[in-house]
Amino acid sequence: MSELHHNLIGGEWTDGDDVIANINPSNTDDVVGEYARASEADAARAIAAARDAAPAWAQSGPQQRHDILKAASDEIMTRREELGRLLAREEGKTLPEGIGEAARAGQIFGFFAGECLRQAGDKIASVRPGVDVEITREPVGAVGIITPWNFPIAIPAWKIAPALAYGNTVVFKPAELVPGCAWALVDILKRAGLPDGVLNLVMGRGSVVGQAMLDSPDIDAITFTGSVATGKSVAAACAEHMRKVQLEMGGKNPLVVLDDAALDTAVECAVNGAFFSTGQRCTASSRLIVADGIHDRFVAAVTERLKGLVVDDALKEGTHIGPVVDENQLSQDERYLAIGREEGATLAWGGERLNRDTPGFYLQPALFTETSNDMRINREEIFGPVASVVRVKDYDEALAVANDTAFGLSAGICTASLKHASHFKRNSEAGMVMVNLPTAGVDYHVPFGGRKGSSYGPREQGRYAAEFYTTVKTAYTLP
Ligand code: NAD
Repeated sequence: MSELHHNLIGGEWTDGDDVIANINPSNTDDVVGEYARASEADAARAIAAARDAAPAWAQSGPQQRHDILKAASDEIMTRREELGRLLAREEGKTLPEGIGEAARAGQIFGFFAGECLRQAGDKIASVRPGVDVEITREPVGAVGIITPWNFPIAIPAWKIAPALAYGNTVVFKPAELVPGCAWALVDILKRAGLPDGVLNLVMGRGSVVGQAMLDSPDIDAITFTGSVATGKSVAAACAEHMRKVQLEMGGKNPLVVLDDAALDTAVECAVNGAFFSTGQRCTASSRLIVADGIHDRFVAAVTERLKGLVVDDALKEGTHIGPVVDENQLSQDERYLAIGREEGATLAWGGERLNRDTPGFYLQPALFTETSNDMRINREEIFGPVASVVRVKDYDEALAVANDTAFGLSAGICTASLKHASHFKRNSEAGMVMVNLPTAGVDYHVPFGGRKGSSYGPREQGRYAAEFYTTVKTAYTLP
């Protein structure tokens, strides 16, 4: 048995109620590690610890916060290959994708280390003579952080770093499938010098630990990334307690390809956006909306590219696409493959379960053609390496189809036309718009988030993160 990784509560590494084995989706015989599973009582202790630590951390100076976040950033960057390997082993991204994500976490901590030193307020002239008005931002208090499995280190980083930078304490509950990166990140931050109780880790079930966080009156704000279904219950619980909430949820992101697009660029955007990271990205291009004039050439070229992609063990050199994260997700992907066929879509390529040297959840990337936007495969998030092509006659129809969705996270267009690119940027109903770039793949220093069913509450990342992690105070003084 491997060493047990504990929860962190009030600065102490503690056992949970029971233990969960972290399984490698590329090889289910490989146990990545053993992780404590927190109970409801553990969650309550973690929340109490975060509350107790909140006043002192709110008063901590910018230098102290900066130094801790900077030390964490430096360690993550130094260990990015090792952390990337852990990520690839527990989640199934390829090794280069895992290393890239680990480096991204380091960059995020570096950005927010800088933000610690750049917190300013406004001093504004009063409409009343002799009165001074000052506007400042203060920490919200104890923040609950609930994260999904598909970005095991980047999403925790882009929530924990701003929470700490703006003076909040944290109760962090990672997804059950990926405790490894979460534990490693918390260990790094503890050793970087965080005072006890400022960051608490409670690994465990959403229905137990997550629910205890939602039900507690002692958490001041909750930031959540995950599915729409869970997000709705998070929002309802936060309304009940009148507390701040931020939700990042699913997507059904369109990539429009116009007749005048550079074919190579369009194919690269589609293949990268739809299938890399096994299609398990909230920003994945699951709807490829393609104009009639380029449709057949585009489908032929994408299919050719898919035939050349190597689906195999995430840690093997040369693998382009790792496994699906687990049996549940693989069954969901296969269910949607069956639904697509029943709805009359043509499966142009892929969709077969694959056997490799090790037992894992391998699925051939799948491309549906001759689909319409009202099919379930084009309305519901599949969250796997499955994309559909919707044929349209022109730009106007493409834009209408792109916006005809309950989601609004990311949207892309491939075109040589400045007119259409500009019009699309203005009229797309998505929070992020990409021109001649994949719908997935964003910078870490600018806002991230969507509209409609994809996001709720303030944006994440960059300086916009302050909206969620601080509360504004307006002070009037008559000297
Ligand atoms: P999920 O909703 O099943 O779980 C997310 C987190 O919520 C997990 O930590 C889980 O344990 C917890 N949880 C579950 N039930 C809970 C409850 N009752 N109370 C509190 N917490 C609970 O999502 P997932 O399967 O881990 O992640 C996949 C989803 O995440 C996809 O829909 C994807 O689009 C979305 N996602 C969105 C973004 C974004 O930024 N928009 C980014 C990545 C992933």
